[in-house]
Amino acid sequence: MPIEAMIFDVDGTVVRGSTALPGANEAMDLCRRHSLDRLFVSNNPTEPAHTYKERFRSAGLTVDCGEILTAGEVTRQYLVETHPEATIGVVGESGLLSLLSDAGLHASSIYQETYLNDAPDVFVASIDREFEYQTLTRCLRVLGGADIPFIGTDPDMVIPAADGDIPGSGAIIHAIANVLGRQPTTILGKPSSVAQQMILDKLGHDPSDVILIGDRLDTDIALGNNAGMYTAQVQTGIAAHSTPESHAISPDYEIDSLADIPDIVSQLSWVLSLCERVWLITIEYMNCRAFGSVLYGVK
Ligand SMILES: [Mg+2]
Repeated sequence: MPIEAMIFDVDGTVVRGSTALPGANEAMDLCRRHSLDRLFVSNNPTEPAHTYKERFRSAGLTVDCGEILTAGEVTRQYLVETHPEATIGVVGESGLLSLLSDAGLHASSIYQETYLNDAPDVFVASIDREFEYQTLTRCLRVLGGADIPFIGTDPDMVIPAADGDIPGSGAIIHAIANVLGRQPTTILGKPSSVAQQMILDKLGHDPSDVILIGDRLDTDIALGNNAGMYTAQVQTGIAAHSTPESHAISPDYEIDSLADIPDIVSQLSWVLSLCERVWLITIEYMNCRAFGSVLYGVK
C-alpha cells in the first residue's frame, strides 16, 4: 500500500454535528484494514481534542485524542513554543481561554482592566459569538498604539452551525485588523505553514505518502497542495462558500463523499505501484548496462 496515512477534515467531511456523514464508517474501515495512520484536523479554535473524541463517539466512530488536532491546539502549541512567558490578550470564547490557561500560558480576555494601562505582550483574535461594537472599541483603545504580535487562530470566514452558516474567526480577525489599521502577524490553523508542520510532525510520514480529504478549497485542499500531499474534496460540507483565493486551488480528486475514498486509494495504489515497477526496471536496466560495459566494453 503506497499510501501510508490519511488526513481528514472533520466538520462537513467526517461528521456534521454528531452525525456521521456518508462513507465515514467505510473510510475508517479502510484505514483499519490497511493499517493507515489517521489524523483528524479541525479549524475549530474553541474545542480541545477530547471534545471531538466525544463527538466522534456519538457519531459511532472510535477515534483517539492523539489522532485529533484542532486550531485551538495549534494556537496553544504555537504560543507555548514562541511566547511561553508573555501576557496574552484574547478576543475569543471561554473554550480558547481554557485551552491556553490549562497549558500554563498567561492568557486573559482583552477586557481585563490592566490592559487599558499596560497592553498585553501578544494579542490573539478568534471566533467570539458575543463579539460586539464595544469589543472593537476595546481593541482600538488597548491595541491601537501597541506594536505587538497579532495572532489569528484560523482564517475561516464562515463556518457551519446546526441552524445554518455563521461568521467564523476570519470575520472577527479582519474586523479588528481593519479598525487597528494593520494586518495580523500570522493566522494559524489550516492552511498555515505552522499547522502544516505540526501535522507532518504528528504523522511522521513523507507528504507524498499521505492523502488529505476535506470540504474547503481555501483551507483543507490548500494545505494538502502546499505540503505536496494527494488531495480530495468532498461535497458534503461548506464547499459552496468560496473565497477569492479558492478559485486558484484545485484538488487531485473531486468526490461526492467519503464513500468514494476506497476507489481513490485503489487507483492511487495501482498507479504508484506501476510507477515503482517502472522505476525498478529502469534501475535494473541501468545496472545491466553498467555491468555489460565493465565486462565487454559495451557503451
Ligand atoms: Mg470542513
